Amino acid sequence: MSAQSTTSNRIVIVGGGISGLSIATQLAEAGLPVTLLEASRLGFGATTRNQGWLHSGAWFAPTQIELARKCSESFQKTMTFCPECVEPNSGTMVYLTADVGTDPSRWTKAWEAAEISYQKLAYEGLAKQFPNLSIPRTAHAYQLPDRAIRTDVLLHRLVVASQQAGAEIRTDTPVARLIQHDDRILGVETIRGEQIFARLVILAGNAKGGALVPGFHTHTAGRQTDVEFVVLKAHLLALRPELCQRPFCIVDADGFSHIPHRPNSILGLNRWLPVGNGDDTQVVPAEVERIWEQVERFFPSVRREEHQALSWAGSTVQAMSIDDVEPGRTPLPTVVDHSQEAPALQNLLSVFSGRASLWAHLAMQTFQTVSEKLELTTPQTNMPPWCSSRKEDYGEPYMAAKPQNSILYHCQKCGNVVCRESDSIQPVCCDTHMEEACECSAETQYSDLETLTAIDN
Ligand SMILES: Cc1cc2nc3c(=O)[nH]c(=O)nc-3n(C[C@H](O)[C@H](O)[C@H](O)COP(=O)(O)OP(=O)(O)OC[C@H]3O[C@@H](n4cnc5c(N)ncnc54)[C@H](O)[C@@H]3O)c2cc1C
Repeated sequence: MSAQSTTSNRIVIVGGGISGLSIATQLAEAGLPVTLLEASRLGFGATTRNQGWLHSGAWFAPTQIELARKCSESFQKTMTFCPECVEPNSGTMVYLTADVGTDPSRWTKAWEAAEISYQKLAYEGLAKQFPNLSIPRTAHAYQLPDRAIRTDVLLHRLVVASQQAGAEIRTDTPVARLIQHDDRILGVETIRGEQIFARLVILAGNAKGGALVPGFHTHTAGRQTDVEFVVLKAHLLALRPELCQRPFCIVDADGFSHIPHRPNSILGLNRWLPVGNGDDTQVVPAEVERIWEQVERFFPSVRREEHQALSWAGSTVQAMSIDDVEPGRTPLPTVVDHSQEAPALQNLLSVFSGRASLWAHLAMQTFQTVSEKLELTTPQTNMPPWCSSRKEDYGEPYMAAKPQNSILYHCQKCGNVVCRESDSIQPVCCDTHMEEACECSAETQYSDLETLTAIDN
């Protein structure tokens, strides 16, 4: 192979899910030439098969404080970068306990340690917020910042940002193999035989991407990390009409969670089954039945025959600390430099978000690794767009995603985003704080109202 034909400044990213697109945006914003190759259409994998739970970190805090902090940072960045991805009017999440003996202090202490704001909710108010939910009198309830989001809207926003920054995005372009010379990765070859050379290849193919480096996902990683990679499958159940508008999770009932995506309720459990490969998205009826059991336990009025139900499964790779490998509990955003793995491969990274919620963290983590590897000396001139709240950073996708005649507001008390009809500009607040005696006026409560109104124009 001649040196000339294999020389390229390009960084090739394989995979157009939330990991690949957030990294493409970050690298392109830093002025690097980026080509992203997606086998199918953007968001074809776990990114749009997921539940749309934007984690604040609260769920992970009792077991993984560092992970909770990373989640919290990414959460803030999501809210800045793409407030329109928040499901309108669904409110913040309520964490509930169901069993008499559950001690909630394990959770509250962890939230305090992770600096995640929470608020204890009175039992009396719960019935109003969750009219159909059977809440035992012993239940403890807390409001956390977690939100229901539409990952397709977030993805669209990333596509626009990365393209504006100069990234080339190609769909329907499966990568068949890596081009390798000795221990150096020189680029990729697509299924149609096209060779694309690169100075660095980043595999962001999630459960399927590992096939390009045989055996990689299933072995314990090498010298650099203390993590193990596992392909995990989870099940979800969609019920229509929706059961309630508020997201909630019941921490001591298998992590039974409810995320409203109007007009559906998406329900799931914190159950992640280790599977052999990323193609395994077959629904296991017994797993769906487990979700139904919790639906019937907590929504006793639900009659199965009265709901349109749809169930599906998705798989994702998780990198888990080998000290704490309980599946699903400890997903880590992970960047693997294959030059430090066995067999050592130069110019190749693999990335795993762990959770879609961690996308911003993964992108920044990857950028750091890329900077070190490529010894980038030019200072990064542009900030990634999710660090900005300038109105010009909001564009077309905002207009496309936002319901007609509505405006987004940030509640200054808790940072929540609510969507209101545009002709009802009055002292509104987020669903929770609306119920409190409102001390401040609309103007002081919504300092960024002007910015958001300007976006509308
Ligand atoms: C059922 C389920 C529920 C979940 N719920 C949540 C949730 O509520 N909140 C949350 O934060 N996280 C959730 N997750 C986790 C989250 O969805 C994943 O961590 C995240 O979407 C992974 O994004 P990704 O871009 O790495 O992978 P993916 O979205 O899977 O994208 C990988 C892409 O790479 C492409 N690709 C693969 N191989 C090739 C190749 N050879 N050539 C070209 N392209 C290739 C695929 O087509 C795919 O589009 C859930 C996951 C599952 C499975």
